[in-house]
Amino acid sequence: MYFKREYHDPKETIRRILCLDLAKNRRVIFSWLLDGPSNHPNAMSIAGRLIVVNAEWAARLTLFDDNQVWEAFWMTIGHELTHLSGEYVFWEIFTKDKRFVNWVSEVHADYGGAVYAFDGNIEKAINALKYKARDYRQDKDHQGHPSWQRREEYLTEKRFDRELILKIANDTGCVNQTLINSVCKFYKTIVLET
Ligand SMILES: [Zn+2]
Repeated sequence: MYFKREYHDPKETIRRILCLDLAKNRRVIFSWLLDGPSNHPNAMSIAGRLIVVNAEWAARLTLFDDNQVWEAFWMTIGHELTHLSGEYVFWEIFTKDKRFVNWVSEVHADYGGAVYAFDGNIEKAINALKYKARDYRQDKDHQGHPSWQRREEYLTEKRFDRELILKIANDTGCVNQTLINSVCKFYKTIVLET
């Protein structure tokens, strides 16, 4: 397992996270610059090697030192690490094709996150998604990512494979067969455990 919580003191754990070298120079940083006033825990990967985690995450990890928060956090880090390890690149913006590619990469990162954080344990992964989902009053599909409910449904399939990618194509209204085939070829299958 990649992530283990070894220290009882959350401040010490966070210090360790900041010193964690996640291979190939990848690092986690906490920053107010990532939606500072937000009350949603959020993270993003940038510049091919950094995972920026917002202040809300730092606050929750230190103030509510409980397992659920930590598991959701590890899932988030695993999700971002999966993005960093490579997603299908496609340079359109507002098209259905782009929406399909965006959704596939989000679902891929959820599957990868479950493997990084929990050795593929689906129950823990779903709990982590639910933890994040409950902060949002409205749960809607976006161009960049599916709704939390859909993300949970996609994860429940337990297999990130061609079949799931075809389902996402269908859900996003993408009919570009060349693109769909190319995306299917790009990604390796990920299987989760029950
Ligand atoms: Zn993502």
